[in-house]
Amino acid sequence: MDLIANINTTLAGLDAQSLTRRRRPVDTACAPRLAVEGSPLLAFCSNDYLGLAAHPALVAALCEGASMYGVGSGASHLISGHSRAHALLEERLAGFVGGHLVSPRALYFCTGYMANLAMLTALGADANAEIFSESLNHASLIDGARLARASVKVTPHADLGALAAQLGASSAGTKLVVTDSVFSMDGEIADLPAMLALCERHGAWLVIDDAHGFGTLGANGRGALEHFGLNSPNLVYMGTLGKAAGVGGAFVAAHASVIELLIQRARPYIYTTAAPPALSHTLLASLDIIGGAEGAGRRAHLNALIAQFRTELRLTRWQHGASETAIQPIIIGSNEEALRAAARLHERGLWVPAIRPPTVPVGTARLRVTLSAAHTHEEVAQLTAALNELERTPDES
Ligand SMILES: *Cc1c(COP(=O)(O)O)cnc(C)c1O
Repeated sequence: MDLIANINTTLAGLDAQSLTRRRRPVDTACAPRLAVEGSPLLAFCSNDYLGLAAHPALVAALCEGASMYGVGSGASHLISGHSRAHALLEERLAGFVGGHLVSPRALYFCTGYMANLAMLTALGADANAEIFSESLNHASLIDGARLARASVKVTPHADLGALAAQLGASSAGTKLVVTDSVFSMDGEIADLPAMLALCERHGAWLVIDDAHGFGTLGANGRGALEHFGLNSPNLVYMGTLGKAAGVGGAFVAAHASVIELLIQRARPYIYTTAAPPALSHTLLASLDIIGGAEGAGRRAHLNALIAQFRTELRLTRWQHGASETAIQPIIIGSNEEALRAAARLHERGLWVPAIRPPTVPVGTARLRVTLSAAHTHEEVAQLTAALNELERTPDES
C-alpha cells in the first residue's frame, strides 16, 4: 500500500497548488456549440481554426477512404503499413509547402508530438550536435531535445542577440535552431526571417514547428513559410494536421536527404504502426479546401473575428496578449483566479480553458481563448461581453 500512498501524496500535492486537471467528455462533434456532460456550451477551446473537423466533405472522404483502404494500416511504414494513401498525401504535402524549400520531400507522422521527437532525435543524434531551443517551445520540442544525444541550450524568448551569441560561440558540427512559429500559449509569431538569417550565417538548421500556422497563415494557407515568403535550404518544417487541417497527424517537409535520414533513422517514425490510411485520404480533401477558395474565405472570416475580439475586449486588471493569431491569451497570473474565471464563464455557458503551469511559466496562468472560422460574430460578441463584465465584477466565491 506504500506504493499507492506515494502516488496519492503526489496527487494531493497537485491539488493543493490548484494544478489538478480534469477531462470533460464531449458528446457531440468538434464545433463551437457542444454538448458536454449534459449541458450545452459555446466553446472557445479547440485548435480547429478553420472549422474543418466536422466538415461534411471530410466526413464523406473518411467514409470513402475506409471503403477503399479499410480501417487499420496493419503494420509500420517500413514493413507493410505504408499505403498508397500515405504516399499520395506525402506528394501533395511536398508540393503544398515545397515552394519554400530546396529539393522538397514530405513525411507523414501519426502525431505532431512524434514528428518533433523524430526530427530532433534524428538530426541531433550526434553528441557533437547542439540544439538551440526557444524558451517558449512546445513540450514536444522540449522532449525531443531531451531525447536527442545533442547538447541543448535554451534561448531566451525572442532574444535574437542571445541566439546570435550562442551560435557564434558554438563549435558544434551540427547546429539546430528550434522554434514554434506561432507560440501555442501566447499566439505570438516568431521572427522567423531574422532567425533564418542567423542560421544561414552560422551554418545552422532552422527547425520550425508550424502547428498553429499551417492552414491559417499565408494567402493560400501554406503556413508560416508562405506568411514570411521564406525560402532556404536550411529549413526543416513541421506542420500538424489535427488543428487547422481538422483531421490528425503531422508532417515534416525538408530537403529530400533530411527526409531520407528520418525514414532510415527516426525511431518515432520506424517503431510505430502507420496511421489509418483513410486519414491520409481524408487529408487530401482537407488540403483541397485549405488551398482553395473556401479556405481563403474561412481564413478571411477568422481574421475578422480576431480583429473583432481584439477591439471589443477592454481589460483593466488582466492582461491581453499582443497576439494577431487565433490564439488570444488573457493572462491572469494566479492559478486559483484563472480557474475561478474559467468556472464563472462556464456558469454563463462559455467554455474557455484555464492554462496553468507547467504548460505556461509559473505566475502566468491564463485563459486561452481560441477562435475558429466556425464561430459567428455574435458568438464572439457574447464572449467579449462576458469577459469584460467578469473582469470588473468582484468574485464572491
Ligand atoms: C499541438 C502541438 C504539437 C503536437 O501536435 P499533435 O499532432 O497534437 O501531436 C506540437 N507542437 C505544437 C506547437 C503544438 O501546438
